[in-house]
Amino acid sequence: MTPRAVPLQEGTSRTFPIREPVDFVVVGSGAAGGVMARELSTAGFDVVVLEQGPYIRPEQFRHDEFAYTFRNELLASATDFPVFFRTRVDEAPSVNSDLPAATYARMVGGSSVHFTANYWRFRPVDFEERTRLGPISGTGFADWPITYDELEPYHTKVEWEVGVSGATGPDDPPRSRPFPHPPLDVKSSGVLLERGARKLGYTPKPAPMAILPEPRPGRSAYQRCGYCMGFGCEYNAKSSTLASMILEAERTGRCEVRADSTVFRVDTDDRGRATQVRYFDGEGTEHAQAARAVILCANGAETPRLLLDSDSSLFPHGLANGSGMVGKYLMFNGNGFVGARFEHPLNGYKSVQVTRICQDWYDSDPRRGFYGGGGIDGRFMGSPIAFALSYLPSDTPRFGTGLKRVLEQYTHHMHVATHSTSLAVESNSVALHPDRKDRFGRRALLVTHLDHDDDLEMVAFLQDRGTEIMEAAGALKTWSQPNRPQHVGFHLLGTCRMVDDPDTSVVDRFHRTHEVPNLFICDGSSFVTSGRGQPTMTIQALAFRAAEHIGRFARNGEI
Ligand SMILES: Cc1cc2nc3c(=O)[nH]c(=O)nc-3n(C[C@H](O)[C@H](O)[C@H](O)COP(=O)(O)OP(=O)(O)OC[C@H]3O[C@@H](n4cnc5c(N)ncnc54)[C@H](O)[C@@H]3O)c2cc1C
Repeated sequence: MTPRAVPLQEGTSRTFPIREPVDFVVVGSGAAGGVMARELSTAGFDVVVLEQGPYIRPEQFRHDEFAYTFRNELLASATDFPVFFRTRVDEAPSVNSDLPAATYARMVGGSSVHFTANYWRFRPVDFEERTRLGPISGTGFADWPITYDELEPYHTKVEWEVGVSGATGPDDPPRSRPFPHPPLDVKSSGVLLERGARKLGYTPKPAPMAILPEPRPGRSAYQRCGYCMGFGCEYNAKSSTLASMILEAERTGRCEVRADSTVFRVDTDDRGRATQVRYFDGEGTEHAQAARAVILCANGAETPRLLLDSDSSLFPHGLANGSGMVGKYLMFNGNGFVGARFEHPLNGYKSVQVTRICQDWYDSDPRRGFYGGGGIDGRFMGSPIAFALSYLPSDTPRFGTGLKRVLEQYTHHMHVATHSTSLAVESNSVALHPDRKDRFGRRALLVTHLDHDDDLEMVAFLQDRGTEIMEAAGALKTWSQPNRPQHVGFHLLGTCRMVDDPDTSVVDRFHRTHEVPNLFICDGSSFVTSGRGQPTMTIQALAFRAAEHIGRFARNGEI
C-alpha cells in the first residue's frame, strides 16, 4: 500500500465504490475505531468505516432523561438485538429487562458519545502485575506484552489530540507532558469528597475528564448543563470520537463513514487472508466491501461475535480463533455505590458528573487478604428518576409522606462511585447463543459472567472507604448498595487478549491477529488485565499506537 499524505482540508465525507478494495476497512466507529479512522486517513490511506448505528449529529442530541436513560434510545433495541446472560454455563440464559448485559451505544462515535468521560491513565503496575504478584489460581492473570513506558507517549497523545482536562496528582505515573487543559470547576460533591478524604489522610485530586473547559476549533467549552453520563453532547465539549476524530478523518477526503452498516462476516481467501467484509444496510440488504486489510474496532462484545460468526473450513472455530481464546476472559471492572445525604443542597445535577477522585488504593495490597486495586470518585446522585427508582436507601418508605420527604431532598444527595479491578476468568465470556437469533438472523450474543470473589471483596473494601469519607465530610446518612455479582457490563474488556504467545491469545503486541496477517483488532477486547476502571483512555492510547504500527506495516509492504 502506498499512502498519499495530504494536509487536512475542509470537505465532506468521500464515497468509495463498494466493489473496489480500499486500503482499510475499520469495523466500528467508537472510542478506538474513530482514532483508527483519523490516524490512517491523515496518514494518506483510503479508509471505509462501517458502523452499525446511525450518524446522529450533535445538534440532534436532547436533554431527555426518560428517552436516553430509561428507553435507552442510544443503545441497540433489546427486541431486535437481544443479549442473553447467565452467570454459569449450566444456567439457562435470559435477557435482562432493563439494560443489555453488554451495554454500549450503537451509533457513530460508539460509547464515547454517551459515556461519563472519566479518563484515568493506566499505571506501570497494570501491565506487569502478574510478574509482581505471581499467579492467581483459577484465573488467566497475565502480563501485557507492552509496558507503561511504551504506551505513555500515546496516553499523552490522547490527552492532547482528543482533549482531556486535569492536573497531575502526587501519586500519578510519570508523564511526558502536562495536561493540555486545566481541571473542570470543582462541584459540591468534589469539595465534600476532598474534605472527607483529607481528614482521613488520603490524597484526593482533580478528576481527569475528557471534557473541555475551554474551546477548541469546532468545539465549545463545557456549558455545565449536567447532561454528560448517558447523553450525547450538543456542544462538542465532551471529547467523543464523534466530536474529536471522525470529522477530521472525513475532512482528509480519504475516509468514508458508512452508518447503518452492520458487519456480519469477514471473508477470507484460500490462503487465509481477509478479502472483504459483508454487511447489512439499514433495510437489511446485504453488501460487501473489499479491502486490503481489515481492522475490527467493534468493542469487547461485538468483535468476538464477528470472529465467531466468520468461521469457515480454514477457520472451523471462528476466524483467528485457533487458540480458542476468542470471547474468553471477559472483564467488566468492579463498581460500587455509596449514597450520602447532607444538610445543605449540593445541586449535583448541575455540570459534569465528576470533579474529584481518590486513588489511594490503586495497588493490590496483600495485607487486605485478596487481590485487587482501585479508586473512587464523588459524583451526583444520578438523575431525579434514577434516584427515585434505583438509589434510595433501603429504609425509605416506598409511598406516602415519608417517600415524598426524601424525594424533596434530592439535591441534598451525592454518591461515591467505586472503580476497581476484574480478574480474567476463562469462563467469563462472550459467545453465540445456540438457537436464538437477532433481527438480521445472526445468532444472538450470549454473555456468561460471574465476578471473582476477590473482585467483590475489592468493591466492598472501596465502599467502606467511600462510607468513611462521606461520614468524615459530615454526611447525615450514608448507605451502600448490595455488593452482588454484576449482570451488566459497561466496560467490555479482554475477549481477544493481546499476548505474544499465539496459543493463549488472539492478537500480538501490534494488534495483528496471530492467524490472519491482514486482520487487526483494536478495542476493549485487546486488554490483558482490566486496569482499575475508566478503560477508554487506554483503549484510545492503544489505538493511536496500533494505527502508527499498522501504517508502518502497510508502507513497508508487511501486510
Ligand atoms: C453509560 C456508560 C458510561 C461510561 N463511562 C465511562 C467513563 O467515564 N470512562 C471510561 O473510560 N469509560 C466509560 N464507559 C466505557 C466506554 O464507553 C467504553 O469503554 C469505550 O467506549 C469502548 O470503546 P471501544 O472502541 O472498545 O468500543 P465502542 O465505543 O463500544 O465502539 C464500538 C462501535 O462498533 C460498532 N459496532 C459493533 N458491532 C458492529 C458491527 N458488527 N458492524 C458495524 N459496527 C459495529 C458499535 O455500534 C460501536 O459504535 C462508559 C460506558 C457506558 C455505557
